[in-house]
Amino acid sequence: MLGGGQLGRFFVLAAHEMGYKVVVLDPDRNSPAGKAADEHLCAAYDDMQALERLAQTCAAVTTEFENVPADTLDHLSKFIPTRPNAACVSIAQNRIAEKTFLSDRGFSVGPFAAIRSAADIEAADPSLFPAVLKVARFGYDGKGQARVANVAEAKAAFESFKREACVLEKMLTLDIEVSVVLARDAAGRIAPFPVAENSHRNGILDVTIAPARISGALAAEATEMASGIAAELGYVGVLGVEFFISGGRLMVNEMAPRPHNSGHYTIDACVTDQFEQQVRILCGLPLGDARQHSRAVMVNLLGDLWYSQDAHHAHEPDWSRLFRHPGLKLHLYQKHHARPGRKMGHFTVLGESGDPVIDTAMDARLAIG
Ligand code: ADP
Ligand code: MG
Repeated sequence: MLGGGQLGRFFVLAAHEMGYKVVVLDPDRNSPAGKAADEHLCAAYDDMQALERLAQTCAAVTTEFENVPADTLDHLSKFIPTRPNAACVSIAQNRIAEKTFLSDRGFSVGPFAAIRSAADIEAADPSLFPAVLKVARFGYDGKGQARVANVAEAKAAFESFKREACVLEKMLTLDIEVSVVLARDAAGRIAPFPVAENSHRNGILDVTIAPARISGALAAEATEMASGIAAELGYVGVLGVEFFISGGRLMVNEMAPRPHNSGHYTIDACVTDQFEQQVRILCGLPLGDARQHSRAVMVNLLGDLWYSQDAHHAHEPDWSRLFRHPGLKLHLYQKHHARPGRKMGHFTVLGESGDPVIDTAMDARLAIG
């Protein structure tokens, strides 16, 4: 496993339950997945000695982190199966490559321009404003993004991003945001999970409701688009595709070459979860049944919660308040330090029908926050 965050940790736990051993590569000594793994290689993603050790000890390699250098995946693929491959990851890790790939292949995306210089901003279609300027690489959870009203603000933001390559996206009025997480195996079979409905706070995923409260026709269209993207990429692994719905129209926002935060509801609400699918694909096993057996609402728990009593000192929230709800499942990620904005855990509320599940989830979040 390349990467040691919570996504890697859930993969390690799934792999262990299924009888496999996992080596994690992550430069952070305290990485959540590294602590759960059979072996933690604490080294940089391009450390040749560490990559050699991975290639020698592992039968296959996957990633939980889209910013792994494509060269690392390319190198490893000479020795062991690499799922997803370097080509897919390098498209998903660069917003210019990603949006260009999608629009070239006929998948609907919002209006955008690739920005490599201040001149590109001046030449951009004025109808893009008001817009969002996003760095093409290494942005996450709303970081590396600035809302800009006009050319002057866009140029100032571009300077503040040290003239890194960016995309300039038209600011859309969103009806709703949804995502599709799917698994695609080496034979091209696809198992999509039900469409998830997502709301964000400060650019960070806050709540996921599954299944999404959208029409069957839109849900089918989103599932078809995500499957089409995976097929066009020749993707092997678990893929997360984020969509905007604006004016009733679906547009792809971005994709993640790995399990996705909006797919965490699958851990408790589906026959097979997104991490078991990742293990199955990596190990050449048949895909599991992706059916959802319970309605689900997932709430992210950020480090801010640790500071809600005292802004200067972290206090562990009183989790016992959550366990009053019999259908609530708590998952903490064993991160070393709570920091504001940092994803520390999540909980999922399960039930038979949508509205009571949403009410319970909102009650539970109030009880700890
Ligand atoms: P990240 O990699 O941080 O998830 P996203 O591009 O998905 O970056 O942006 C995070 C969130 O910001 C989106 O889920 C959405 O809520 C909001 N957002 C991003 N781009 C736009 C846009 N062009 N129009 C409206 N809202 C946007
Ligand atoms: Mg996103």
